[in-house]
Amino acid sequence: AHLDRIAKVDEKVHAFLHVDAEGALGAARAVDAKRAKGERLGPLAGVPLALKDLFTTRGLPTTCGSKILEGWLPPYDATVTRRLREADVVILGKSNMDEFAMGSSTENSAYGPTRNPWDLERIPGGSGGGSAAALASYESPLAIGTDTGGSIRQPGAVTGTVGVKPTYGGVSRYGMVAFSSSLDQGGPCARTVLDAALLHEVIAGHDPLDSTSIDAPVPGVVEAARAGVRDGIKGLRVGVVKQFAGEGYQAGVMQRFEESVALLRELGAEVVEVDCPSFDYALPAYYLIAPSECSSNLARFDAMRYGLRAGDDGNHSAEEVTALTREAGFGPEVKRRIMLGTYALSSGYYDAYYGQAQKVRTLITRDFDAAFGRVDVMVSPTTPTTAFKIGERADDPMAMYLADLCTIPTNLAGNAGMSLPCGLAPEDGLPVGLQILAPAMADDRLYRVGAALE
Ligand code: GLN
Repeated sequence: AHLDRIAKVDEKVHAFLHVDAEGALGAARAVDAKRAKGERLGPLAGVPLALKDLFTTRGLPTTCGSKILEGWLPPYDATVTRRLREADVVILGKSNMDEFAMGSSTENSAYGPTRNPWDLERIPGGSGGGSAAALASYESPLAIGTDTGGSIRQPGAVTGTVGVKPTYGGVSRYGMVAFSSSLDQGGPCARTVLDAALLHEVIAGHDPLDSTSIDAPVPGVVEAARAGVRDGIKGLRVGVVKQFAGEGYQAGVMQRFEESVALLRELGAEVVEVDCPSFDYALPAYYLIAPSECSSNLARFDAMRYGLRAGDDGNHSAEEVTALTREAGFGPEVKRRIMLGTYALSSGYYDAYYGQAQKVRTLITRDFDAAFGRVDVMVSPTTPTTAFKIGERADDPMAMYLADLCTIPTNLAGNAGMSLPCGLAPEDGLPVGLQILAPAMADDRLYRVGAALE
């Protein structure tokens, strides 16, 4: 049924870069066969899923939305991919994304943009716009995204779906193509909080193949979601982040956000304002740290190891082949970041830019620590505006970067965040997202609050 749905709507939505109909049907039949034999089934047996094209899939294309990886067939599965297969999930295909996860609209995909199912003239968010659009268009009930600065939560917000960035280290990064290794985190996308929790438990947990993976039990997110529905959130302390309001925030977004805060109070939560002054510097710090790490990580695309190779005609040196391949294979946003990052890391500038940004990062972490000393969770709008029009911010990187104003501090500090739908903005009828933030390793709180609100 989901493959039929994809065949019907994906020409318009373009949520998928590759649909693996054969593989999906094979996986579904394998589940049937197991069931017929009375064998033990995985926890998500037979449930279809869209996998962001940033995760390696053995024998299935993995392009990261880039021309430089066109034609590359990974020889191995990412840990997330492997865990999905072990849970008997049916992987429908690979979802579209901004090239190497750099963007907030999926317009930076080298294979054309994904469209928002709510309004095909609008963006589905990014970088994981394909995953979010697949959910919103009913092409898939589950999806996987990655969140370096908001790429799970912001697409969730603008498509009216649920997206979770787990605590850094909660989900293995092995086989997840690196953009900014100290910020990147894979996580679940779904249409309901409980669905996200069920997927979260399947993909999370310690992995010896990822040196930053946390060796501790996974927070009980499914039980937390059930508890949220059953027991509510009476007595929970909720902080409203003072910094996430004011100029640039759409009136309808603020209206729905304030209604959510009122609902939290009605449910018995204690709501206070929390002041996080360093959050004002999160965006500039992120746009030094993320490009710096990207310039280093993307050095591996040297024309020798993967996919595309340009100028390999016997008339060019190896160095020239590398340069020509990177020139042809990377899009403008990726090049912009590589240049920014290389500059920020160069000797003489390192202390002024990268070093300074790392100090800001510490201050942001301290703001979180102080706030979480007073409250159990924090809330804000996920993104300042609803989905903007395709093309509207394409030539203005600064305007594009503002989409992640509220999501970025979490990545810098490494704690957990969720976006869930909280209604439609009255002025444009488009979905608004509520962001919930929890301390590191307290991902279960997100689910408790989210499920109570849903
Ligand atoms: N939009 C942000 C960026 O362009 C975040 C991307 C992400 O989370 N992968 O870097």
